[in-house]
Amino acid sequence: MTSIVKKSIWFSWLLIVPVGLWLTYQVYPPPGDISLWEVFTFLLLMSVVASMPMVVNNTPIFLIQWVSLAVFLTYGIFVEMVLMQISVLILLMRLRVQKSDIYRFPLNSLMFFIVSLVSGLIFYTLGGTHGDHLTDDPYTYILGTVYGISNYGVNTLFLILLQAVVLKLKGPYFGKDFIWETVTTLITFPIGFILFELYQSEMGIYSLLFVGIPFASLSIILSLYYSSGKVNHFLQSAAEIGHQLAERLKSDDVLDLFVQKVIEMLPVDYAYILDVEEDKELKLIHKVEFGEVLDPVAEPLEKGRGISGLVWAEKKPVLFHSKKQWKHINSGYIPAGAESILGVPIVRNNQVIGVLVLAANKKRAFEKSQLMIIDILCSYFAVAVENARHHEKTKENSERCALTGLYNYRYFENMLSLEFGKLQKGERDLLSLILLDIDHFKSVNDTYGHQSGNEILIELGERLSKRIGNIGSVARYGGEEFVILLPDMMKGDALKLAEQIRLLIADNPFTLMQSMDDEGKQLDVNITASIGVATAPQDAEDSLALIRHADRALYVGAKRSGRNRVAEYVK
Ligand code: GH3
Ligand code: MG
Ligand code: MG
Repeated sequence: MTSIVKKSIWFSWLLIVPVGLWLTYQVYPPPGDISLWEVFTFLLLMSVVASMPMVVNNTPIFLIQWVSLAVFLTYGIFVEMVLMQISVLILLMRLRVQKSDIYRFPLNSLMFFIVSLVSGLIFYTLGGTHGDHLTDDPYTYILGTVYGISNYGVNTLFLILLQAVVLKLKGPYFGKDFIWETVTTLITFPIGFILFELYQSEMGIYSLLFVGIPFASLSIILSLYYSSGKVNHFLQSAAEIGHQLAERLKSDDVLDLFVQKVIEMLPVDYAYILDVEEDKELKLIHKVEFGEVLDPVAEPLEKGRGISGLVWAEKKPVLFHSKKQWKHINSGYIPAGAESILGVPIVRNNQVIGVLVLAANKKRAFEKSQLMIIDILCSYFAVAVENARHHEKTKENSERCALTGLYNYRYFENMLSLEFGKLQKGERDLLSLILLDIDHFKSVNDTYGHQSGNEILIELGERLSKRIGNIGSVARYGGEEFVILLPDMMKGDALKLAEQIRLLIADNPFTLMQSMDDEGKQLDVNITASIGVATAPQDAEDSLALIRHADRALYVGAKRSGRNRVAEYVK
């Protein structure tokens, strides 16, 4: 809300409410024989009702119309206005309106003033009066009902205008709060007549007790009913989020979805996920501020330090309603503007594996019931992350060679048929393949030992990966054979690349760490490799032929011609 809008609210209030009250007093003065003590008792009842609002969809609903109807019929418009103004004040104080939202005081005061004024004027215009003589007159009920309807109508109109014009919210304006307001008004409104009748009867002021106590109970029951419905709703969405989390196979996706859902569910301004690293420290791994995912840079936290360190150490969730409650715990990265904080341990097999910290600039942004839901979500999250990590690990193991870390034969075959498919569909024009076999590797093994042979394979894998980068893919094809797949590379370029690779091996000795020579120095070993090159579509019509022909070039063109050379496939 802009400050101009806020200023105009204050200005309108100043302009309308004080003068309006004074004018109302002049035109419709309260009865002369008014008992201040009884008015005060009514005020007390209204205050109790006002201090028990239900908050539905962020809209406070307070069931006050029934008392205000009795007050209006008994004392007239002015007393009703004054008592209503005080009740609104109490309601807003009860809702703990923030300093920045202080404009809600003049706004609500103005709104309720106009509601009282309009419905009162309609009542008087239709010939209504107030006082005890009304009890025998059936017309009172008709006019009283009209009063109630106009009261409710103007109030609703105001709320819609407020949402549409001032707060600029897009509909629907007839949400859950509207339904609750309507239903509860319908239920409680007739009580206003009962209160009025009883108050005018012999019972007098005691009627306030007889009606007030059942009403207060009703209000509490409705409120409980609503909040249990809310918790139910949260639980339902938590279960659904749990299913969605379980479906994700990548741990990063699980993390993103989890944080996104938590932010949708609660009024969160800041969300952090910290990972317990080797049971030593907490590392920030995910950071979202005002819906934006940021780079998670922060000093790691020790156990017991800061809010998340405390959650980790105690294995218990924490809930703070304002900065005052957590300031002394002193933490690393909670922003200065934050007030409410919710911290929950992410536990798996009785071990804290991480911590979720949510914060909001608003005070009392989170409720205890929400903490419980987030706690449940965190255990779904812990299981889903563990499963996803396990899946990733298994997948990685099935795709890669354990020794060199390169893709293995199986993965390569899939990749090759995929790429060949693209070629056939016309998504690619060319596909080159380089096949490489180390020369006399058996004698390398025989001379330096199998372990040293492994070292050479590892280093060769590194050299190839580094040279190829992202222009193609390197895989370990077999024992000492490597294959490189190069999409969209012409045969001439593939031959040049193969020659560079040949030199990269032949001209740069491989250093063995394992086998030291007699003086304890590292040993340099020179090796060479033979290479065959084939390119589709010119050399092969299917993926198996492409490998076969590269292999033929390797053996016929390179090995048999003396090794340490590059050969291309010729038909
Ligand atoms: P050339 O290719 O030049 O004809 O001779 P070569 O000795 O390299 O060929 P051959 O196919 O006869 O031998 C391949 C050798 O590679 C046999 C095996 O000991 C070795 N080898 C295969 N896989 C591994 C491995 O994982 N580690 C080590 N250290 N050696 C391996
Ligand atoms: Mg071989
Ligand atoms: Mg060989």
